[in-house]
Amino acid sequence: MAETHPDAVTAAIAQRIEDIRSRIEQAAAEAGRDPASITLIGVSKVQPDDRIEAALSAGLRVYGENRVQEAQDRWTKRRAIHPDLSLHLVGALQTNKARDAVALFDAIHSLDRPKLARSLAREMAAQEKRVECFIQINTGEEPQKAGVLPADLPDLIALCRDELSLPVVGLMCLPPVEDPPALHFALLQKLAAEHALGQLSMGMSDDFEDAIRFGATHVRVGSALFGARETKT
Ligand SMILES: *Cc1c(COP(=O)(O)O)cnc(C)c1O
Repeated sequence: MAETHPDAVTAAIAQRIEDIRSRIEQAAAEAGRDPASITLIGVSKVQPDDRIEAALSAGLRVYGENRVQEAQDRWTKRRAIHPDLSLHLVGALQTNKARDAVALFDAIHSLDRPKLARSLAREMAAQEKRVECFIQINTGEEPQKAGVLPADLPDLIALCRDELSLPVVGLMCLPPVEDPPALHFALLQKLAAEHALGQLSMGMSDDFEDAIRFGATHVRVGSALFGARETKT
């Protein structure tokens, strides 16, 4: 984003939010879906304060972050000012951060292994707080990527639901960059249906409309909303 004057940043981000919302409505209409069933998560990782403040003043209340510490720094004070904020962890979570994650977030999209499920269950019990969880699936079966393999999903769901009583609400995926994302969205939709899970966290700046066609209920949009990230994550 080239703008530097605060008013210009505010206007540009308000406009982008409006554009993204109308594209969500359009894609929902084409898919015969209620747009109100789709939550826009503004992925605010690494973004500078002026852009965050602009999105807040434009009325955006749902934000996604990929690091616990960074999210604490960015949102702890702002949450006191905006109690209606909803904060979603969309990045990998280490078990030693489970306590902080449960304390801060309203939803965790990166539950992907038994050890983490047990830590989250313990922390939710200790803090008497239920944080909605999405199980992240490694739909592309990429060795370096987070997420449970599709073949291991039934066991992880059984552990989460039956043994730990975790509030698992849906599935999440992050398709391989080189594949058509629709293949992965279709797979996630099928897996969610098989396990009677109602929520699908999928679709980012370049493909959220496709994701909506395949039933996305949570789209995670970063750069198309805030502008390009100046630091890589
Ligand atoms: C960064 C990130 C996004 C947003 O990506 P954009 O392409 O900037 O929209 C969405 N989901 C996850 C898990 C991310 O890490």
